[in-house]
Amino acid sequence: MKALHRLQTVSLRLLFLVIILFCSLTASLGIRRERMIETWRPLHYLVNITLDDRLTEIVDARAEIEVLALKKVSHIDLDFGELTIDAVGVNANATPFEHKSGILDIRLPQQSEAGTRFTLTVAYHGKPKDGLILTADKDGKPAAVGDNWPDRVHHWIPCLDHPSAKATITFNITAPARDLVVANGQLAHVETNASGTRTWTYTEGAPIPPYCMIVAVGEFALNSPSQPSVTPLLYYVPQSDSPFTLKGFAPSVPTLQLFTNTIAPYPYEKLALIIGATRFGGMENSSAIVFTSTLFKPNPKAKVSHAFGIPIGTVDVVAHEIAHQWFGDSVTESTWADLWLSEGFATYFAGLFLQRHEGEEAFQAYMKQAAETYFAYEKSTRTPIHDTDTEDLFKLLNANNYQKGAWVLHMLRSQLGDDAFFRGIRAYYNEHRNATANTEDLRKALEKSSGLDLREFFDRWIYGTGHPRYELSWTWSNRTKSLKLVLRQLQPEPAFPNSLSIDISSSGGTQRLILKPVSKETVQEVHMNRAPTLIKIDPPNGVLKEATVIKGS
Ligand SMILES: [Zn+2]
Repeated sequence: MKALHRLQTVSLRLLFLVIILFCSLTASLGIRRERMIETWRPLHYLVNITLDDRLTEIVDARAEIEVLALKKVSHIDLDFGELTIDAVGVNANATPFEHKSGILDIRLPQQSEAGTRFTLTVAYHGKPKDGLILTADKDGKPAAVGDNWPDRVHHWIPCLDHPSAKATITFNITAPARDLVVANGQLAHVETNASGTRTWTYTEGAPIPPYCMIVAVGEFALNSPSQPSVTPLLYYVPQSDSPFTLKGFAPSVPTLQLFTNTIAPYPYEKLALIIGATRFGGMENSSAIVFTSTLFKPNPKAKVSHAFGIPIGTVDVVAHEIAHQWFGDSVTESTWADLWLSEGFATYFAGLFLQRHEGEEAFQAYMKQAAETYFAYEKSTRTPIHDTDTEDLFKLLNANNYQKGAWVLHMLRSQLGDDAFFRGIRAYYNEHRNATANTEDLRKALEKSSGLDLREFFDRWIYGTGHPRYELSWTWSNRTKSLKLVLRQLQPEPAFPNSLSIDISSSGGTQRLILKPVSKETVQEVHMNRAPTLIKIDPPNGVLKEATVIKGS
């Protein structure tokens, strides 16, 4: 027995070694699966779905997908989950197919040349495992709500499930007559059927990312604000939330106005704000945002907005999801590594809304909180914002893409000034509206608007890790009347190139000096009449940093 035990120990150790070796190999070789556009792309989806009376399953669905061949193609590999397929066709002719491991492989009757368009038809039914959430609303009423980020829409719509594969979409949703249905785009018509159901047709004429494709079905209360808005604004909430809706969603009208003024006209046909099933606080589906069921739940501890009399957190999430309509939905990240172009922008633009409506102090508190969240995150995870390695896409919902991304924009604004910064943002938006963009597209747009070379800034802040930890030590020589400043950057990473304001106070007043670090140690001498009494780093708080000031002897 002992010998066997020893043998077991040895082989277990060996097994551990093998596992560790295997894990480190796969970690270093691990590549994130990105379903990029290669040989074909979808142009338009027509999705017909009939739900059962209790909204527990799709009894009948038919998706017609208009496809453009980009190269010679002989088969199309759609992402499609576990639902039962009843028939597949190409240009209305039945076609052989194979459906396994989340891929529906359709053999085309003949090879299609680049530039050819054709229509795939997939008939299917069943209860989706994910993506279309069939669960009761907070009042216990049957409901069906799409919740698809990052790549869960293929559990209920066959598609190319990557954010870059943007397409227009038409939904025909047949649901019980008691229910309201809302989806992306404009409501074209509602028909009452002989069976006592109704069929709702919505068309989204702008191409949208698959994760933003949504229908929401339920016994909603429907409200609209009385103030004029830049786009038709509709609130779909569970009946018990109805009394709180107008006040709870009040930030939406001024948010739409601010972003229309700051960025560009609102990109879609209408905006619905929905309360229903989502695993997020809010999900930015194009023109049909879903907020979590607890959005209006009273929270006596919450800090209350001066402007709206509701928790600041609610103002933040409403503004954040609305900002996504421009950034994320209309200008979509090309790859998952560019996610900060969606989340960092939504976080920063929600901050800009707070700055406008709650005041400078609230904005500074928001940015300070963002910095602290990022510093705490960085202690455990030191990856760049532009992260090509993380395999679990949900782990990209992190302080790099949100809080640090927002700070990158704030630093660019501080560095470039409002005029060049917002001109650059508008140019970037207009160039990539209804399309995709990557980090380099943003860099080029801001370089053009400012005339600055931003490569080093982007290298350090987006493609590199960390943040500056400044230590400013100063010494005063009364004999030579000179102040010597030594700015060190203590972070393990290379120097950050941000210019840094230094305020020097003496009995004669305060003067501001701009230090431009070129390496990890920057020395500057300043001649003054009086001895300094106080020295401050970055008083406008334009850099994401930790800083200490030391008075030398
Ligand atoms: Zn977001």
